[in-house]
Amino acid sequence: MRKGYEMTAEKKEILRIDHLLITFGGLRAIDDISIHVDEGDFLGVIGPNGAGKSTLLKTIAGDKPINQGSILFDGKPLPGKVHDVVAGGISLIPEGRRIFPSLTVEENLIPGTCSRKNFKQAMNESLEEVLTLFPILKTRYKQAGGTLSGGEQQMLAVARALMARPKLICLDEPSLGLASIIIDEMFDKIVQLNRERGMTVLLVEQNAFLALDVANYGYVLNTGRVTREGTGSELAADPGVQEEYLGMKAE
Ligand code: ADP
Ligand code: MG
Repeated sequence: MRKGYEMTAEKKEILRIDHLLITFGGLRAIDDISIHVDEGDFLGVIGPNGAGKSTLLKTIAGDKPINQGSILFDGKPLPGKVHDVVAGGISLIPEGRRIFPSLTVEENLIPGTCSRKNFKQAMNESLEEVLTLFPILKTRYKQAGGTLSGGEQQMLAVARALMARPKLICLDEPSLGLASIIIDEMFDKIVQLNRERGMTVLLVEQNAFLALDVANYGYVLNTGRVTREGTGSELAADPGVQEEYLGMKAE
């Protein structure tokens, strides 16, 4: 059992990454990474620009082939196509949100359920859920995505990912370019999803302080390697992490 969970009952492992290697030509973007995620975990992965954070999430989402090592989700190897990965229960909220600016909020939300059976019923159930979580999207429902504020677009990106009712959501730098009050609101929603609905969250952030504040376990990534791991509070208190990632000088 991992550190940080001594006081809780044994959890079920949902994602198991072992000795993962992902290359771009000769560059090892992910270099022998092993990360294990239990069901209901809120995992933070922090690291500077170019550390390999987006590559890691893209690979988990089925968008980048594995060079070496393995990724097991729910005990099974990842399917080969993004569509099947989504249907299997993993949703990625990509860096930069990637909503469709010319489509309305409604139209942005609908494609998320394409992977599900009984499309219409599933869509209505999921819509009700996500609009309850993000009421602001209800008021913007017929508005083009591109006319929303940055924070609203990020909420739309999260809502779209939730339409597929994932077991695991992977968020790639959701705080990027947002005002701190909006970030707080956004993170409250993500924490709510994790605590109240038991959704497993894998959050990647350059903003280490934010991620370590909400994550119950964290990994520090640097040039494709895990350099440290520990509970959110352990990492936040680590002088090396403070100096390197939080902009604080160690005592
Ligand atoms: P992060 O998200 O932590 O900023 P990335 O995963 O985007 O890091 O990038 C990790 C490394 O892989 C970087 O050195 C980056 O330049 C390289 N890389 C990422 N995507 C590509 C790509 N499509 N082609 C070539 N190199 C890439
Ligand atoms: Mg990135």
